[in-house]
Amino acid sequence: MEGARRLPVAADALLSPSEAKVGARGEGANAAEAPPPLYPLFLNLAGRPVLVVGGGEVAARKVLPLIECGADVRVGAPELNEALKKLKTEGRITHLEGEFQPHWLDDVFLAIAATDVVEVNRAVADEGAARRLWVNVVDDTELTRVQVPAVVRRGPLTVAISSGGAAPVLARQLREKIEQSVDESFGQLAELLRIFRSRIRARFSHVPSRRKFMETLWPGEVGELLRASRLDSARACLIELIEAGEPEGSREGFVSLVGAGPGDPGLLTLKGHRRLQEADVILHDRLVSREVLELARRDAQFIEVAKEAGTHHTTQEGIHALLLEHARQGKRVVRLKGGDPFIFGRGGEELEFLRAHGIPYEVVPGITAALACAAHAGIPLTHRDHAQSVRFVTAHCRNSIDALDWCALAQEKQTLAVYMGVSGLDTLRERLLAHGRAASTPAALIENGSRAEQRVFHCDLASLPETAKREAVKSPALLILGEVAALGRALAWFGKHAAALTALEPAKSTVLLRIDMRA
Ligand code: SAH
Repeated sequence: MEGARRLPVAADALLSPSEAKVGARGEGANAAEAPPPLYPLFLNLAGRPVLVVGGGEVAARKVLPLIECGADVRVGAPELNEALKKLKTEGRITHLEGEFQPHWLDDVFLAIAATDVVEVNRAVADEGAARRLWVNVVDDTELTRVQVPAVVRRGPLTVAISSGGAAPVLARQLREKIEQSVDESFGQLAELLRIFRSRIRARFSHVPSRRKFMETLWPGEVGELLRASRLDSARACLIELIEAGEPEGSREGFVSLVGAGPGDPGLLTLKGHRRLQEADVILHDRLVSREVLELARRDAQFIEVAKEAGTHHTTQEGIHALLLEHARQGKRVVRLKGGDPFIFGRGGEELEFLRAHGIPYEVVPGITAALACAAHAGIPLTHRDHAQSVRFVTAHCRNSIDALDWCALAQEKQTLAVYMGVSGLDTLRERLLAHGRAASTPAALIENGSRAEQRVFHCDLASLPETAKREAVKSPALLILGEVAALGRALAWFGKHAAALTALEPAKSTVLLRIDMRA
């Protein structure tokens, strides 16, 4: 095992005093005597005979990973299911036909009992024990001596998780967590190191210098290139570093421009999450929610750069300077922006700046406010009957309002998603009406879209500014204007404004749904 560290959980501390006192009879006493931990091993099964007893689905599930690991798999059962039959036809398993025979165990290395008959599983376990064989009995912690862990694989790297049978579901959940936070680049680097192992050993024969070299790879340029899916460049870079024969000295920084989504942490992408976990420095807008920031690496440096309208605490130039300063120190910088970095986020300007200064970067998109607000207000942005197109517009100050093509924006049967629009609603209404949009065009104002405190207000174009004023709609808020906005009254499903869905008595075979329009 490499670097395993067991954080002891004192069973006593988890028991109440009465449970601990129950004595030999009670659960408490059993629970207090936590069994010793399992000893983890990784088996090389290549070419080794392994017996699986059982011909059903459970057995088939056990067989596939064994084949993958190169084992010589024998499946003992009176009958095989379709999947196993196919493997037999393909010559990938041997079928031992009939009821379990103890001699099946004679020359195997490992046996797995995977039948649904307890007696058969027990016989395999007992006969196996008599032969000092390793036997796994599926789903039976009492009988089994060998447990098969939940596994995460990345190339040659394998993470195996076991709860010793105490909590298989928890082990699976932990696996999912690891699955999400460990990206493919780990496996790719391990694979590269396997390929170049002897070259590295030859170039760095001194163990400490080899270790130092190895340590620079994952956080360094090779790792960065892999994380950007630039496999060929990563390979070339590794070769160059090996040839150079000394540890990478001055590592170049890297900037990830990451979209944080609208606030609900569930709407952050997996890739965005990984970048937050790897970051040395995170430069984030005020718009980014606390819940999203909590997903970042704890010891990263967090810098808030407030750039909302009216509060220019940090200018765009200031942000550029910060990006440059940290990247030049060789850090992994995450520039975290609300929604998507390329939608009214000045992401383009930041990339131009980075490009001009030779700093490598990547962009991880996020869910933009229009998509999130529409989804959480039950407003389809397009709809066959109501809107054939959708436009994302911003109208936060006079200049940007004047620059818009009002003729195009006022067309009917299209949806406008207006960002940063709360303060310019009077002008917006005046221009749209002047260009022929109907006063009765439905509108919805969505404040804090996707967040627990989301508020949605439905009105029409005519009453838009008054509605915003009456309800004191605050930033961040998005306006959705167009025929589709009305659909949200009936389709809302999220938060306080969810439309009530009441099922009526089913009439014969038809189920009728009544949608309460008052919400
Ligand atoms: N890049 C961001 C937009 C930045 S502009 C994105 O892609 O979403 C900021 C504007 O986005 C706000 O003024 C508001 O109109 C909108 N916005 C961002 N998050 C929002 C949210 N959770 N609810 C409503 N509007 C939001």
